[in-house]
Amino acid sequence: LMDGWSAPVLVSEVLAAYGQGGSAVSLPKVTPYRDYLAFIASQDSAAGLAAWREALAGLEEGTRLAPRPVQGEAAVAPEQVVLSLDTQLSQSLSRFGREHALTLNTVLQTAYGLLLSRQLNRDDVVFGVTVAGRPAELPGADRMVGLFINTLPLRLTLPPQLPLIDLLKRTQDRQSALLTHQHVGLAAIQQAASLGELFDTLVVFENYPVDRATLGQRSNGLKLGRVEGRDATHYPLALIVQPGEQLQLRFDYRPDLFDRSTIEQLGQRLIRLLEAAVSDASRPIGSLAILDAHERSTILEGWNATAQPVAATTLPALFAAQAQRTPDATAVVFEERTLTYAALDAHANQLAQHLQGQGVGPETVVGLCVERSPEMVVALLGILKAGGAYLPLDPNYPRERLAFMLSDANAPVLITQQALLERLPELATSDRHVVRLDADWPLIARKPATAPAAALDPRHPAYVIYTSGSTGTPKGVTVEHASLANKAVTLGRQFGIGTDHRIALLSSCAFDPSIEQITMPLVCGATIVIVDDITRETPQLIWDQLVRNSVNLLNCTPSFFGSIIPDASQIAPLDHLVLGGEILTTELQREISRAVKVSRITNLYGPTETTIDAIGHALTGDETGAHVPIGRPLPNYRVYVLDSHLEPVPAGVIGELYVSGLGLARGYLNRAGLTSERFVADPHGVAGSRMYRTGDLARWRSDSVLEFLGRADEQVKLRGFRIEPGEIE
Ligand code: AMP
Ligand code: MG
Repeated sequence: LMDGWSAPVLVSEVLAAYGQGGSAVSLPKVTPYRDYLAFIASQDSAAGLAAWREALAGLEEGTRLAPRPVQGEAAVAPEQVVLSLDTQLSQSLSRFGREHALTLNTVLQTAYGLLLSRQLNRDDVVFGVTVAGRPAELPGADRMVGLFINTLPLRLTLPPQLPLIDLLKRTQDRQSALLTHQHVGLAAIQQAASLGELFDTLVVFENYPVDRATLGQRSNGLKLGRVEGRDATHYPLALIVQPGEQLQLRFDYRPDLFDRSTIEQLGQRLIRLLEAAVSDASRPIGSLAILDAHERSTILEGWNATAQPVAATTLPALFAAQAQRTPDATAVVFEERTLTYAALDAHANQLAQHLQGQGVGPETVVGLCVERSPEMVVALLGILKAGGAYLPLDPNYPRERLAFMLSDANAPVLITQQALLERLPELATSDRHVVRLDADWPLIARKPATAPAAALDPRHPAYVIYTSGSTGTPKGVTVEHASLANKAVTLGRQFGIGTDHRIALLSSCAFDPSIEQITMPLVCGATIVIVDDITRETPQLIWDQLVRNSVNLLNCTPSFFGSIIPDASQIAPLDHLVLGGEILTTELQREISRAVKVSRITNLYGPTETTIDAIGHALTGDETGAHVPIGRPLPNYRVYVLDSHLEPVPAGVIGELYVSGLGLARGYLNRAGLTSERFVADPHGVAGSRMYRTGDLARWRSDSVLEFLGRADEQVKLRGFRIEPGEIE
């Protein structure tokens, strides 16, 4: 029937009538509502729609702040959070507006748009604003009683580099340009935009004239002692701004969609943005802080307090120490064969001595292409002991791919086996030294079994492993000893690995979890149980072997494990199932708990560029939602969820996941450009540190656990295989 503006008009008319005694009341004539309708009808609606279409051009989707769409639902009575700015900030805002010729409305609307953009981590947002809708062209419009307001979309694009002052001016200019089109109905605008519901939040700036003096006058013995207005909106959230000595922010929110504390937090963030505006409006909007200092340090530091002491060392040093501690423990089991730590150490030393004779040393890449066997472990250790970096080559990979990796990595030496060499002749090119482990072993065995001297530094590379490349060719990730040593030691610690552990070597050597499956046991005195290719492909055989070899830790991808579940034997010996490399669904989790007895399940997340894995979650069994969380950063890792300005987003907000810390790879081998694109300066770490841009989307839960939410780019995972569509194209 009537809008807020009408209320004081109506009340003053009632008072005037009362004052005249009530019998023959004569009030000044007012413009009839019919004139207003005629005015609206005479407007150019096509031009109006065109203007709105242009204002919304390029908008990809509407902006929803509530956790779910509520269109069509019955309204729920809102609850309120009211915040008053102190007089000082209220005055500063007015002064700031005057200085820059900005209305207070513009400042509030812009700040709210910024808040939305930060809450949702989007640089194009839209929300509703309520306009008075009383046309200046209509004489006496200000004295009319009726419903004139209109709710219209306000769209803001917010490039993070744009100075705040420019954004404010731009907002005001665009709003003024749309003034003459404010008569267009919201339904028509939404239809023209064809994006469905455009917004679910609203800003109302209440600035209609209230003549307090008239309202306070005694009229024929009647006086209003107190005037109070009540209203409610049907939007999930509305911000009602009341200017005054102390500017008031009233948030009307649907309690079934938002917690009170969330709304209070929103209010505080809005106030921080207003403070930032008056203190320095020349700053780029992306740099404005919306988190308070405490929240920010909790997210950046508190949730990254992962520091654990580890010696800066190399894998050969760690292994040598372990072999000293447990020389007679079993290091490797394969079919009927076993190797003790002492024997493995001796064989690896002999090979290392031989490789050094071939010129292998720090920074030399050595290709390793052998069947799954104890030789694989001997060779890996031998390469590292010689000082070289190993390049895993799965003999089952396409020949072309193997040849490409060998030449791209510039590997002067290749370790393989006679039979493979016959099958994969491309591997042996004339400019490469080939060591055939089987055929050449008598020669190698003549070398001393003592550790070779290698001037190996923790900063030297331990391995180069290839992963799919968006440029069309795969890229080699170079990982240093310090990173690998940290991973093997701290993960072993976290998992409680000791001499009783028997860990399956199940992954392909081309997939970096295999490196963890080899190195973590070897620095903890545990046993590696090698699973051969045929077994890997036969679920029944896998379970047989797990039982036969008493494997108590199994690490694989969720899809792999899902594929062997149907054949699971109830006497599955697993203590610890470690899944990683792709999304772990709660559905699979439930399937696992139905089919297998596992005491402990861990979800590991990590790109190859961060040394196998960076984040881990120990499943509790009461995970909800579609995906199991990925958890918390692993020891000596730091993890950030950032917006496009590399600022941390608040908990609950989706951002891009960045990883820094000890696990960061050196980079992509011989690809400096690509390396500097993905390994960037870490603005939140110690000076000079870097972080890796994962391209994954994630969100912090308020209990400091991370959730994985898919990719920011096109990269896909198929059964754990990382694939860049660019490579397929
Ligand atoms: P890769 O370098 O092959 O280990 O692939 C790394 C990518 O796999 C990550 O960037 C994620 O997209 C995905 N990924 C790895 N582990 C997980 C996990 N536990 N949950 C969800 N996605 C994962
Ligand atoms: Mg990985």
